[in-house]
Amino acid sequence: MRTVTLPAPDDFDSWRDAARPLAAAEVPPDDVVWQVGEAPTDLFAGESVAHEAPAGAGFTVPRPFIDLARNVVLANDPERFALLYTLLFRLRREPKLVEDRADPLVRRLDGLARQVRRDIHKMRAFLRFREVDEGGTPRFVAWFEPEHHIVRANAAFFVNRFASMRWSILTPEVSLHWDGKGLSEGPGASKADAPEGDPIEAVWKTYYASIFNPARVKIGAMLKEMPRKYWKNMPETALVPQLIAGAQAREASMIQTAQTRQDIGGNSQVAWEALREEAAHCTRCHLYKHATQTVFGEGPVDARLMFVGEQPGDQEDLAGKPFIGPAGQVFNRALATAEIDRDTVYVTNAVKHFKFEQRGKRRIHAKPGAGEIDACRWWIEQEQMLIRPDVTVALGATAARSLLGKVVTIGKERGRALTLPDGGQAWITVHPSYLLRMDDKARAEDEFGQFVDDLRKVKAALG
Ligand code: SF4
Repeated sequence: MRTVTLPAPDDFDSWRDAARPLAAAEVPPDDVVWQVGEAPTDLFAGESVAHEAPAGAGFTVPRPFIDLARNVVLANDPERFALLYTLLFRLRREPKLVEDRADPLVRRLDGLARQVRRDIHKMRAFLRFREVDEGGTPRFVAWFEPEHHIVRANAAFFVNRFASMRWSILTPEVSLHWDGKGLSEGPGASKADAPEGDPIEAVWKTYYASIFNPARVKIGAMLKEMPRKYWKNMPETALVPQLIAGAQAREASMIQTAQTRQDIGGNSQVAWEALREEAAHCTRCHLYKHATQTVFGEGPVDARLMFVGEQPGDQEDLAGKPFIGPAGQVFNRALATAEIDRDTVYVTNAVKHFKFEQRGKRRIHAKPGAGEIDACRWWIEQEQMLIRPDVTVALGATAARSLLGKVVTIGKERGRALTLPDGGQAWITVHPSYLLRMDDKARAEDEFGQFVDDLRKVKAALG
């Protein structure tokens, strides 16, 4: 009997390094005990002795097995390492086994991988950060209780998503801490170590109450999508029981008055104003230090169409309103030509503070960097969740990067509907300032025509 001791419960590399030479040496699965630290994970194995896995033995396995194993290793099933090794051992004689969904072992491992993927998704969807003051600078802290060993595997997602914020994710097994440059790990924590609430929660609660539609309450679906164990960490769900309790009465009243949209709009307006107020004090990146003020979005809260530009310019910075400078004039002319009423659309920017270089008395526009775009994405996401536009239009590469979370080439993507990460519809076109920078008048007019064509397509997509 051989014992393999893995350093951590989610350590795929160590499992692979130990399993390969064992399989290459044809050590039967029944002769191997897998354990993490001192705790045996294979509860059905017999007496064990210390074992040093032989190094360097070569054994090629199919890619689908590696993909499956990477997920299965994260499962909380104590037999996972032994089950994976059994599959690996059988693969030597049955190379296509991993594709055989009728095989009970493959089916069981597939099921574990599915549970792990679902848990990874839940952590991304249901984790909520609370802002705390840490010596004058904000840190965002979240508490989460995963069902599987997925926290380290999810770290890269949160680093990419919130690269410019300082954050900590506390879980019972391990804590992750990001300081804007590096990720560090700490021991597990308890819920008492995490903060209870912050000012933005009031916004969320107002907003959630405003969009809650009792006519659509389907408790089963809600519980499936948003399992109850995560509710306590999500500010909006604190309202769910009382909203459900009042649902029937509210529904009757809504039908009677036929004021549904206006009511929701009224509450959303309150939530939007609270959000704008919160953004006015934002210090998530350094741009607030030199600009005059936060330039928040503007337009009706029930707008079906949202435009996202790059950042406020000199005039917008002074007035506190988006798209009122020279680029805003081009934007207005294009909207009018495409017969889109600006008063019906919501207009905002990917970055809410003016970034510039001072040259004498002039403030020259400076392009926002990836860190600033990522920091400010927080506000765009809040605006999108509140406005819930049918269609969002990214004006230029910065807006496209903010909305899609990746660098895109405008020439390749413009003129067609794209799907946002939240499932909404997005279109990409040029920023009106691009047209202003053209010296060749004929070319500028031609580009303006193409810009208007894009806007007409967007209008048609709205129906
Ligand atoms: S640019 Fe955005 S993230 Fe940076 S301080 Fe301003 S509002 Fe906050």
